Amino acid sequence: MCLGCLFLQIYHALHFMFNLILFGPPGSGKGTQSANLLSKYKLQHISTGDLLRDEVSRKTPLGLEAKKSMDEGALVPDEVVIGMISSKIDENPSVRGFIFDGFPRTKQQAIALDQLLDAKKAPINLVLALEVPDVELTKRILNRALTSGRADDTEEVIKKRVEEYRAKTEVVASYYEEANKVKRINGEGSVEEIFALLTAEIDPIILPE
Ligand code: ADP
Repeated sequence: MCLGCLFLQIYHALHFMFNLILFGPPGSGKGTQSANLLSKYKLQHISTGDLLRDEVSRKTPLGLEAKKSMDEGALVPDEVVIGMISSKIDENPSVRGFIFDGFPRTKQQAIALDQLLDAKKAPINLVLALEVPDVELTKRILNRALTSGRADDTEEVIKKRVEEYRAKTEVVASYYEEANKVKRINGEGSVEEIFALLTAEIDPIILPE
């Protein structure tokens, strides 16, 4: 192998990041699938829902600001979540890549994420969009409500969360579709079946560690 090629290979191994967005409506299984994907590919998980709930439980100024929107099922303002994501990316300078779960949720957030990742020369590689019909979503979240202890898992708030998704978040898929990065995945089936569909899209790009 030529010296230049060897250098390129080493450079690629050292610098290649894999950044994935797990996309889908509330209750589509992003959290469950993220956990499985993390252990297979050793990526860093960033869930804005988890980060926000942590801020709320610690009663930080950010948490106090976010709580009202969350309890109503509305989106938290873009500048709040974008700031949170920016710090989280900075806190993890040498990871293999990120799984973004629950973010970006508006076109503004998607543009901001692209800018943050541009600075690292590590763009979004793939957007996996889980598709589940509304009736099934409500059923799943109400079921989860029995054990989740989440204040926003009530029928009225779920309805609002799904509406917010259709009104503001669905456009994010079109944004990434323009860059040809979206694969739509049928989100109905067993956890294992859906996991197999997701990994079939990821494996050609990144090897499990
Ligand atoms: P779900 O996917 O079930 O809606 P999440 O845990 O992702 O749950 O989010 C819970 C709540 O946190 C949302 O309803 C919203 O109020 C807030 N939230 C989470 N991520 C974002 C985001 N990227 N932008 C704005 N608000 C967000």
